[in-house]
Amino acid sequence: MPVLPSLARADRQNWTEPGAELVAAGVHRIPLPLPSDGLRAVNVYAIATDEGLTLIDGGWALPVAEEALTNALRDIGFSLGDIRTFLVTHAHRDHYTQASALRERFDVRVALGALEWPTVEFCQRRARGEHVDDIEVGMLRRAGATELADIIERHAFARLYPRDWAVPDTSLDDGQSITVGTRTVTAHHTPGHTRGHLIFRDADAGLLFAGDHVLPHITPSVGFEPIRQESPLRAYLASLALVRAMPDALLLPAHGPATGSVHERVDELLAHHAERLDLTSAALRAGCDTAYAVAAHLGWTRRHTRLEDLDPFNRILAVLETVAHLDVLIERGLVGATDDDRGLRHYHQGESARLAATPGPRGTSRQRAWRRRRRMSTSQKIASTASPNARIPRRVTLTEP
Ligand SMILES: [Zn+2]
Repeated sequence: MPVLPSLARADRQNWTEPGAELVAAGVHRIPLPLPSDGLRAVNVYAIATDEGLTLIDGGWALPVAEEALTNALRDIGFSLGDIRTFLVTHAHRDHYTQASALRERFDVRVALGALEWPTVEFCQRRARGEHVDDIEVGMLRRAGATELADIIERHAFARLYPRDWAVPDTSLDDGQSITVGTRTVTAHHTPGHTRGHLIFRDADAGLLFAGDHVLPHITPSVGFEPIRQESPLRAYLASLALVRAMPDALLLPAHGPATGSVHERVDELLAHHAERLDLTSAALRAGCDTAYAVAAHLGWTRRHTRLEDLDPFNRILAVLETVAHLDVLIERGLVGATDDDRGLRHYHQGESARLAATPGPRGTSRQRAWRRRRRMSTSQKIASTASPNARIPRRVTLTEP
């Protein structure tokens, strides 16, 4: 694995300093500004080849971001016109929109995972002013977060521009190899943060361009996107296991400094979600019975901020993350749920959860029997609605599509 050339910048504060940081031979990390300070910046990675540049992710289409990219590329002897390809990890605004916007003016191709295309189409329609239903609104109402659902509805058409959501040129699939100069980069489907999220791995150089799948200082939100994804937290945990099974690599994240070990951070993220699942169960035992009540019971961010003290956007992420954890507990047979006449979902601790022990992947015979009964009695009611969102322990994440 390559040694980081400038570990001095690999800390919590300095990673957003403008410029191009050499993180591996021929690879520069370029942090670009974002409009809110929640995430502070987004990294794009410039890979130099004889034919020009390949960029991993594009940044958020803002004049300041284009200026920062122009300046950083000039420092390493390139210009915007040298960019040949954008490999975009997912269709969130801070990753996709600048790639789309630059394509209007430069001869550049934008490649995106196949399962992210519907999100681009959704945003494109919204940007044109069409009404498109947002599943998050219904999910928040079902969670008991009416006020937050109203906020999303009121802001549905805010600040989307058609040029930022142009259809990509190239569709990427899981396992696809991409030639970038003399190196081969492989795309791996890592759903969870979004349904079609890709990471890009340069196995020979020991590099993992992780997008938002593995972040060093925060936990990525899970499933915050307008298109339905079944059980995003379950998908996310499986995607973490996938990455953990690959050889360790240098972590090149979209937010935060480049850091030494992907495995180390994946282990922390898995432990975090295991703990949150336990805390979610404990909240149900304490009498909370809606996702909103559970979210209000739990602490958020590393400082255990109360839900009501978060800003509205982060309250939305917190409630949707709670739904995602509850969905996983339902899938594991530990929690049951029923919807009432008003469309509010009520959760209850399952009988099997009180048995405590969970021997074997399928549980005890009593757990299996309980799951069968639950399926028969409430299968319609708890039919999986996509659940979104997770995020947090260390800082609140702010990745908007
Ligand atoms: Zn994102």
